Amino acid sequence: MPPLYASRTTLGNDGAFGGVKVNPDMQAYKADQKSLVEGLFVTGDFATGRHCAFNGHKRQAINDLSWAVSSGFLAGNSATGYLKKV
Ligand SMILES: Cc1cc2nc3c(=O)[nH]c(=O)nc-3n(C[C@H](O)[C@H](O)[C@H](O)COP(=O)(O)OP(=O)(O)OC[C@H]3O[C@@H](n4cnc5c(N)ncnc54)[C@H](O)[C@@H]3O)c2cc1C
Repeated sequence: MPPLYASRTTLGNDGAFGGVKVNPDMQAYKADQKSLVEGLFVTGDFATGRHCAFNGHKRQAINDLSWAVSSGFLAGNSATGYLKKV
């Protein structure tokens, strides 16, 4: 079934990730990006932490599902610690 065409492409965008900036305990920063929101812990696609910018392109430092599970584990521990204090 000619004619056939080919083009060279690269991945440009596969979604929207990392909306909320978090600290290593997965606690959310306020909009000022300096102070923390008390009692709010963010995980998975909504949390920053697994991407870096390299020459203008998004590069993942960790697989999405691994990040969802590991960030959830960290956030769960942090939330438990927070609830024990309040
Ligand atoms: C088509 C596709 C293919 C993918 N392939 C891969 C892959 O091969 N490898 C990989 O690592 N990643 C892959 N991903 C990405 C991966 O699935 C996501 O990064 C990961 O599932 C995000 O986990 P999460 O817990 O952050 O969010 P989600 O898995 O989206 O979980 C959020 C949950 O919250 C629930 N929810 C939403 N609002 C509310 C509410 N108000 N109250 C209660 N519950 C609510 C939703 O129903 C959902 O169950 C893929 C994603 C897509 C869409």
